[in-house]
Amino acid sequence: MRRTRIWLVITGLTIALISVIYLQFPQVEKDNVVAEIEIDPSFFHLPTLHYGFPIDSFEVVEGKVKWNQNLSEILSEFNISFQDIHTLAQNAKEVYDVRKLKAGSNYSIILNKDSLRTARQFIFEPSPTEFVVYNLTDTIFAKLEQKPVKVTERMIAAEINSSLYESLLDQGASPVLVHPLVDVFAWQVDFFRIAQGDKFKVIYDEQTVDGKIVGIGDIKAAYFEHWGKPYYAIPYKTNDEVDYFDEEGNSLRKTLLKSPLEYFSRISSRYSLRRFHPVQKRYKAHLGTDYAAPTGTRIRTVGDGVVLEARYHGGNGNYVKIKHNSNYTTQYLHMSKIARGIRPGVSVKQGQTIGYVGSTGLANGPHLCYRFWKNGRQVDALKVDIPSSSGIDESMLSEYRSVADSIRSVLDNIDFQLEETRLAKIPSNEKDNP
Ligand SMILES: [Zn+2]
Repeated sequence: MRRTRIWLVITGLTIALISVIYLQFPQVEKDNVVAEIEIDPSFFHLPTLHYGFPIDSFEVVEGKVKWNQNLSEILSEFNISFQDIHTLAQNAKEVYDVRKLKAGSNYSIILNKDSLRTARQFIFEPSPTEFVVYNLTDTIFAKLEQKPVKVTERMIAAEINSSLYESLLDQGASPVLVHPLVDVFAWQVDFFRIAQGDKFKVIYDEQTVDGKIVGIGDIKAAYFEHWGKPYYAIPYKTNDEVDYFDEEGNSLRKTLLKSPLEYFSRISSRYSLRRFHPVQKRYKAHLGTDYAAPTGTRIRTVGDGVVLEARYHGGNGNYVKIKHNSNYTTQYLHMSKIARGIRPGVSVKQGQTIGYVGSTGLANGPHLCYRFWKNGRQVDALKVDIPSSSGIDESMLSEYRSVADSIRSVLDNIDFQLEETRLAKIPSNEKDNP
């Protein structure tokens, strides 16, 4: 169970971090107090740190980069020569190019507390998780630093009344959680057809920097009730990769067939952003994969799904478009004939015949043009990384079941009436570790 080991390490590091923080401050054990003593408050005074700089003896100017504002303009009042800015621009190129100061980003200038107000450091935040220190005294250099990311395990449970996005906001969770959740349940839940009364529960790691949510870490357990059907998602590491499984150990993912044709002579044209079109005699993007095959060859859907479109249209000729889940959609063009019963709204099973190879529309010979969308964007079907769909191996099943059972009971005990996200208390499964 390498996965739980990772959690153990994370928990260990968190405890270590907390202990370090506590050790910084004198602790008074209430039980051992014999007499109240007056302590000089300055004893507790620690230097004020700003991006790690002790700034008590300096002045700090904070601001946001304005549109079209460059570094020399920002530093103009602070006694920095153009020569120094030029040197800085040169020296900092590899670390963070000063010409790329994004408008709206935070910066701080640390100044000498004298009448000249000379800038000592210019500190810039290119993103919420990192900052760049440009040192302007003595040696002129720049360095990129990461801010400490705090990871907190949280849980959230809600019934969806409007949208998943709004439910997350209502619960005080970050809407950023939508993406990993959609990813986990992509094959079970149609996120475009959320029903009234659909419910979910999630235990996840929230990443914050300076108290602001910057991302979502692991999803440690999740439950989704969609159109009255319950689905559990239990993370488990197999073959060095964490994947999500149901309570029986079946993969939550379904795979897609590598090719829409069982037999074909060759791939006659690959996905490319620029190719010479054989019929139109000009260069244009080819956002599909062409399979050369005789007219009448059966075309199969590469995965389970619902037919979105099945009709004749212009250059596409007879074509069928199928939505497999919230992530994947495929399209099959130039069919001689669309298979019987294939029309919008119909459900199809992986491998089912949906039409036959032909040359209708803009085609100079019989072939299938196969197109692939991932998260709404056309991609190369031959290059897209489709996750495998194998379940937990027989030999690991009993170990998996005990992990799954304990995670499931934690999920089952979460109340849907939670008023806000709470700190989760998922039991560790470390005892299962050899
Ligand atoms: Zn094509």
